[in-house]
Amino acid sequence: MQDALARVRSQLGKEHDILISGRALKGSGTFASLNPSHPQEIVGHHQRATVEQARQAVEATFAYFPTWSATPVEQRIQLLVRAAALLRERKSEFNAWLILEAGKNWVEAEADTCEAIDFCEYYARRMERHATPEALVQMPGERDTMRYLPLGVGIVIPPWNFPLAILVGMATAALVCGNTVVIKPSSDTPTIAVKFAELLLDAGFPPECFAFLPGSGAAIGDALVSHPRTRFISFTGSRDVGLHINQLAAQPVKGQIWIKRVIAEMGGKDAIVVDSEADLDAAAAGVVASAYGFQGQKCSACSRAIVDASLYDAFLEKVKARVERLRVGPADEFGFDMGPVINERARRTILEYIAAGKAEGRLITGGDSAPGDGFLLQPTVIADIDVTARIFQEEIFGPVLAVTKARDFEDALELANATEYGLTGAVYSRNPRKIQAAKDRFFVGNLYINRKCTGAMVGAHPFGGFNMSGTDSKAGGPDYLLQFLQAKSIAEKI
Ligand code: NAD
Repeated sequence: MQDALARVRSQLGKEHDILISGRALKGSGTFASLNPSHPQEIVGHHQRATVEQARQAVEATFAYFPTWSATPVEQRIQLLVRAAALLRERKSEFNAWLILEAGKNWVEAEADTCEAIDFCEYYARRMERHATPEALVQMPGERDTMRYLPLGVGIVIPPWNFPLAILVGMATAALVCGNTVVIKPSSDTPTIAVKFAELLLDAGFPPECFAFLPGSGAAIGDALVSHPRTRFISFTGSRDVGLHINQLAAQPVKGQIWIKRVIAEMGGKDAIVVDSEADLDAAAAGVVASAYGFQGQKCSACSRAIVDASLYDAFLEKVKARVERLRVGPADEFGFDMGPVINERARRTILEYIAAGKAEGRLITGGDSAPGDGFLLQPTVIADIDVTARIFQEEIFGPVLAVTKARDFEDALELANATEYGLTGAVYSRNPRKIQAAKDRFFVGNLYINRKCTGAMVGAHPFGGFNMSGTDSKAGGPDYLLQFLQAKSIAEKI
């Protein structure tokens, strides 16, 4: 990893271009992405694509759709398996980009790259199954079959927090199904995205099957979403942007002949319930790992601990001790538990939430910036938080844990469900009856029992949330690709 970091550091500060049909283009200007551990270090310069280029990107990928969708599925699958192999070969290099541009520590960076590899492998294999759908009931005198067709041009809009895994998952799922895509990376992490675009070309994907279009979401997002040739939007990000995209996509424009599909995975306000019959040490360890991994900047991060009154004080003591042992420092130096948050704006917003939380509850530990030149924050625990508090209801996306006391298990479940989100959740209990109640009534897309609520594994934990957490697309699950396909039923008289 040290060699990879040195190699990648020697490539920092380069200018990268827009890619449309393999042509490298300049935008209306450039913007820089920074290393959040050392903000004076510029990771890459990127183009600001224009609205006109957004239209060109959709039209160019639309023009290639008939060719790509007619490419034999075996060939598309092979290309994806090849992309997985290249990612595996270059794992340390991608880890280094994630460390330097997203501020992931070594372990979190490795997890992101490995998840990206898993997505490629998994979707390649799932596509083999969809290429030969299940047999249908046969009407007498007919041959009845069904096949899956790709949809068309998709707009792929990932967040910065899993800038490789989520981008790769959304883009490759669409591509292996035979769709073409316009990739609009997050402006905080465009270098990681361009490195993956280059890897797709190295793997042999035709340059016309995707466009890489950096630029501000606010400036070019609407042009991409509302273009009449756009067939679907695959978005992962915040609730407000997801709802905006959903609304815009629902309005037909001149020349549009389909209903656009929106696959939107959004925010979370994830809770871990600690029951009176929990293993308290395991619960404290699970809560701390879920709340502070990658500085709490995961949609799955635990931001609420809902703890039975009988264990409340003991739990706070154990969590405080563990949190105060966490080391905060630059992500590129091995051994820190927490690195920086993504940018100065995020740090300010999180500090505002901490100030609100201090007024709403009792500060147990943390509560301020941490020393260093990066966007560093102390891991923060605030206790005695009420269900109506802002830090109980709003997604903070930082290293802040709200702790709430529950009267009993039923009260805890009710509190856990008392937000508009429904992404992940966990329950620590040794009581099978309570575990069953959580399985039945804890309303989240990803429920974990007696383990942390982060770290979904492709294939094992299909991922996606309920309510305002999104469309429950279940990334890394057996049905995910169906969202990028449409079924055609054929009845033939024999
Ligand atoms: P964000 O919503 O600010 O941005 C996401 C993407 O949308 C970025 O690429 C951004 O450039 C783009 N965008 C912004 N405005 C746009 C517009 N008007 N039209 C089109 N695109 C636009 O989110 P973020 O800060 O990058 O990511 C953090 C959020 O993502 C958190 O809310 C987190 O919970 C969520 N998230 C959810 C999941 C999940 O699977 N549910 C996974 C990771 C992150």
